[in-house]
Amino acid sequence: MKLFKELNSRGHEQIAFFNDPYSGLKGIVAIHNTTLGPALGGCRMWNYKSEEEAIIDVLRLSKGMTYKASIAGLNLGGGKAVIIGNSKKDKTEKLFRSFGRFVEGLGGRYITAEDVGTNIHDMENVKIETSYVTGISKSLGGSGDPSPVTAFGVYMGMKASVKEKLNKNSLKGLSISVQGLGHVGTHLVDYLSKDGAKIYVTDIDKNRVNHIVNKYDCIPVKPDTILSQEVDIYAPCALGATVNKSTIPNLNCQIIAGAANNILENPLKDSESLVRKEILYAPDYVINAGGLINVANELEGYDKEKAFSQAEKIYDTLMGIFKRAKKEGITTNKAAALQAEDRIKKISTLKSFYLPYKKTFKIRND
Ligand code: NAD
Repeated sequence: MKLFKELNSRGHEQIAFFNDPYSGLKGIVAIHNTTLGPALGGCRMWNYKSEEEAIIDVLRLSKGMTYKASIAGLNLGGGKAVIIGNSKKDKTEKLFRSFGRFVEGLGGRYITAEDVGTNIHDMENVKIETSYVTGISKSLGGSGDPSPVTAFGVYMGMKASVKEKLNKNSLKGLSISVQGLGHVGTHLVDYLSKDGAKIYVTDIDKNRVNHIVNKYDCIPVKPDTILSQEVDIYAPCALGATVNKSTIPNLNCQIIAGAANNILENPLKDSESLVRKEILYAPDYVINAGGLINVANELEGYDKEKAFSQAEKIYDTLMGIFKRAKKEGITTNKAAALQAEDRIKKISTLKSFYLPYKKTFKIRND
């Protein structure tokens, strides 16, 4: 692999390799862009088949974080970490403390958080060694579970999508399918139910379906039929890549708006296919930014109300993206990327003059 060629082609600033034979830590941090502020992104622990696979993953994920932070209006850059290892067998206090010491060594250019394969407990071990970590439990002064804020952001994004596509101000009477009744899906169903939507739900875990069906007026659907269910809105809240060249022909919805990351398997081609099918797609990293907004708030002293009011702005952000997509004749995915890049370009010249005193740093401009 030609590493510098990879960094150049994706526009990365830095990649750092952490090696600690005493703890077994093999970690990589990729910092994509810090124009807007310190790079924030989760630490993924995964049993990668090769070091090359781990490098490509951390480069891809960190670039995605640059776009997510920018579009969310946060003063944060994009970064991500991966730890090569089996999250079920290889986790120790020492491993995460060792990781924390390396993160500390980056001096605040990168701030870590939990991700696939890591959890709040691991981040608490990281916190022993560095203050550059978010997503800590409430008992330790952190923000706790980000899912309620994520779900609220998705709900606001759905309302924006409905305004755009159906010219309606409410979800009342609309049919919505929710795929995945985990942390986010459960909170989302609560909002949809309060708004009077007709809700179809599914999960591969039957207990979760039963729990929701007992609590709310929902219609259970089999996991393999949810995608073809005739609905106004399909809300993917489980895994990524559910929208792809094999599933698109069977989709029976007018809007796709959900929490899952990487909803489109092939963002370029799939977003164009959705336009041809006249399905409005709310770009995943825009509509699910509530989680990032929540942990970012922790950096300034967590305030729940503030986090929710920031997530509410996902409505306006999406309306702006829909407007741009229409005006320029491009997909919503492309419009979101351009919007994120524009903000970075505009801010990049801000530091071209010297400021003798700048004491405050705000994660968001409001
Ligand atoms: P979760 O693990 O709590 O819930 C996922 C649920 O999906 C589980 O109940 C699981 O059984 C179910 N599931 C898995 N495969 C399925 C399938 N094929 N069909 C139906 N159900 C299936 O995860 P979460 O925290 O609720 O996150 C949901 C999605 O949103 C993920 O893609 C996550 O990356 C993304 N996301 C979450 C947050 C957050 O704040 N939690 C923030 C941004 C993005």
